[in-house]
Amino acid sequence: MLTTAELKRAAQAEIDRRRDALIGVARTILDSPEAGFREVRTSGLVREHFRRMGVPYEDGIALTGVKGILEGGSPGPTVAVLGELDSLKVLGHPHADPETDAAHACGHHAQIAMMLAVGTGLKAAGVLDALAGRVALIAVPAEEYIEIEYRDRLRRGGKIEFLGGKPEFVRLGAMDDVDAAMMTHTTSNPDESIIAIGGTNNGLLAKMIRFTGRASHAGGSPHAGINALNAAMIAMTAIHAQRETHRDEDTVRIHPIITRGGVAVSSVPADVRMETFVRARTVEAFTAASEKVDRALRAGALAVGGSVTITTLPGYLSIRSDETMLKTYGSNAADLVGRQNLVSLTHRPGSTDMGDLSQIMPVIHPYVAAATGQAHGADYVVEDYELGVITAAKAMAMTLIDLLADDARLARRVKSEFQAPMTKNGYLALMRGMVNEETYTE
Ligand SMILES: [Zn+2]
Ligand SMILES: [Zn+2]
Repeated sequence: MLTTAELKRAAQAEIDRRRDALIGVARTILDSPEAGFREVRTSGLVREHFRRMGVPYEDGIALTGVKGILEGGSPGPTVAVLGELDSLKVLGHPHADPETDAAHACGHHAQIAMMLAVGTGLKAAGVLDALAGRVALIAVPAEEYIEIEYRDRLRRGGKIEFLGGKPEFVRLGAMDDVDAAMMTHTTSNPDESIIAIGGTNNGLLAKMIRFTGRASHAGGSPHAGINALNAAMIAMTAIHAQRETHRDEDTVRIHPIITRGGVAVSSVPADVRMETFVRARTVEAFTAASEKVDRALRAGALAVGGSVTITTLPGYLSIRSDETMLKTYGSNAADLVGRQNLVSLTHRPGSTDMGDLSQIMPVIHPYVAAATGQAHGADYVVEDYELGVITAAKAMAMTLIDLLADDARLARRVKSEFQAPMTKNGYLALMRGMVNEETYTE
């Protein structure tokens, strides 16, 4: 039997041997970006690679998700490696789809390549046989919580219940056989050194808002209309007026957009739509902030004499990392990039549905600084594919070997010591309890 060090060397050598093809996967997805729950081509590419690698898989999970399984040489826990299929939408991104504005401005194309690279490394001769348990290679849809109106139609049509991919995976039971999970995200933040680990982030609630007024001639008879756009403007001002009431330690972020501002300039706007997130560090804090937002939205409708329909939808929960997995990953990452290039994160005000998984199972979600530009900006580009695909995959493959070698002693310990903040059913009940729709009419 190979030693753990020999297994890690074999996996790394196999990833290096397939380097160009693996980086090619990331570049192919970069040039074919698709937003969440629409990742048809990207999902097809994952299936094609699984077939070529001889990895059995299930597909069509949460519409486009794919889950492959690598079997170890003996029974044991299942650890998942995730990669996110979806792109964001950013106008003017150099790799944007000109038709849809879809663009990989968050680096998820690199994650799919990393996930396949981990599988490639573990399939090196002798590695899987020496491991106990299984590795699930999961391509998960829709991490970017966008296109709320489109996804809400999918929800009302019964195609999905939650608007993010990982909550859907949990609901559908696709994580029931998974004991722990990891994924690596790219970052462009220089303060995060080369590899950044740990930390917490914000959770969020999402809102879809529709102000209804009355159309009339905007020049001839505005007195006969009810201006829904003015209602939205008043509501936004009222939201802004409450910013001083949010506590700093809750790191509240509220950032509405207007997705429909009117139809014809000569007609008083009668149907104006907004989407917003209400983010904060805890469920209690984003729930409290959400009530203030609802008051502000009603105030807009009240002021113009119109009405507002507020649909509140569950978003994501805050992330927590498993300390044992983090330590194991950190030591492998340090071997690859040097201890001095590894930093521990504090709190990030963004959100991810990896947070949801972290409430029910042990997870880690490290970052590799392989990109430049602003995250979610038109200039966010993964530049360093050696780090963003190859090194990132090696660090995860080495961590999986540590977890599952030696009859999966470490993975069994992680599993037995994990104190889940909530059960799967508790999580689903919390999420379902956040759904609310109200219409306020003056
Ligand atoms: Zn993102
Ligand atoms: Zn992302």
